[in-house]
Amino acid sequence: MILILGGAGYIGSHANKLLSQRGYDTVVFDNLICGHRDFVKWGNFVLGDLADRDQLRLCFQQYPIDAVMHFSAFALVGESVNDPAKYYRNNVMHTINLLDVMREFSVQYLVFSSTCSTYGVPISIPIEEDHPQAPINPYGWSKFMIEQILKDYDRAYGIKHVNLRYFNAAGADPDADVGERHRPETHLIPLTLDVAIAKLPEIKIYGTDYETPDGTCIRDYIHVTDLSDAHILALDYLREGGNSDSFNLGNGEGYSVREVIQMAEKVTGRRIRSFETQRRAGDPPELIGSSHKAQEILGWRPQFTDLHTIITTAWRWHQKQ
Ligand code: UDP
Repeated sequence: MILILGGAGYIGSHANKLLSQRGYDTVVFDNLICGHRDFVKWGNFVLGDLADRDQLRLCFQQYPIDAVMHFSAFALVGESVNDPAKYYRNNVMHTINLLDVMREFSVQYLVFSSTCSTYGVPISIPIEEDHPQAPINPYGWSKFMIEQILKDYDRAYGIKHVNLRYFNAAGADPDADVGERHRPETHLIPLTLDVAIAKLPEIKIYGTDYETPDGTCIRDYIHVTDLSDAHILALDYLREGGNSDSFNLGNGEGYSVREVIQMAEKVTGRRIRSFETQRRAGDPPELIGSSHKAQEILGWRPQFTDLHTIITTAWRWHQKQ
């Protein structure tokens, strides 16, 4: 059985669906701080907090867990700059709880949600896995620290892991069973769609003076179902005896904030007003990832690669809400 930590959240719920569709038994462990009970539509559910080792132990006692996918983290760059304690406590300390309970129960395989934020400001694009890691915000540091801890836990205790360094997770389940719902919402695509449905008057563009062709930040948007697929491939890889490793998950193509807004106008057929404002702290100008390694070693073949398709799935979900 696969334990999905944070399986009631955005990416974890999509992974849970795909795992279930492919015949895996799952148990979701989530404190529902960021997650949603109605996103757990497949497998088992345990309401619990990673801060509490006993709750976690109980879950490992109750279910025959043999591998873990760990999505449970705070993941807002701006917030991490203002409240680093929240990030180091939750993302780092609580993950150590998980690793220690995995040791106690001799669970050997972990697929870890890492991030392109561990690279900091890239010195070469597209970013390869061996690019230096030099985070520029506490969120990136918290994930980088776990990557280091995992290396040591592998060497000393034999816990095998895959770090999946996501670029910008986007879109929604093609059947709109689950999708993106954050409280509060801070991400570009859902906020832009909020403008399209007149829930917001305008989308703020954070920074127009970056050294990019149109002055706004460039990101590599990757569909959440493709991300989920990579998790399952990573798990299979580990179970087949693969060594601990790190893989980028991106599409290798970048879109500026302005281009995303334009594409959202095209998809929705509605005018989306924007407002140019200052840069947001902690944002690197450009993040584009090469995922050749994941394609080669894991056999990953992303399906929803163009931005139009990604935003179309997000829009379908958004309208359903
Ligand atoms: N962004 C923006 N306005 C918003 C939200 C985000 O201009 O209301 C920009 C943000 O500065 C970044 C990009 O959109 O360059 C993607 O941000 P998001 O928060 O969606 O994801 P992140 O890159 O922080 O993971």
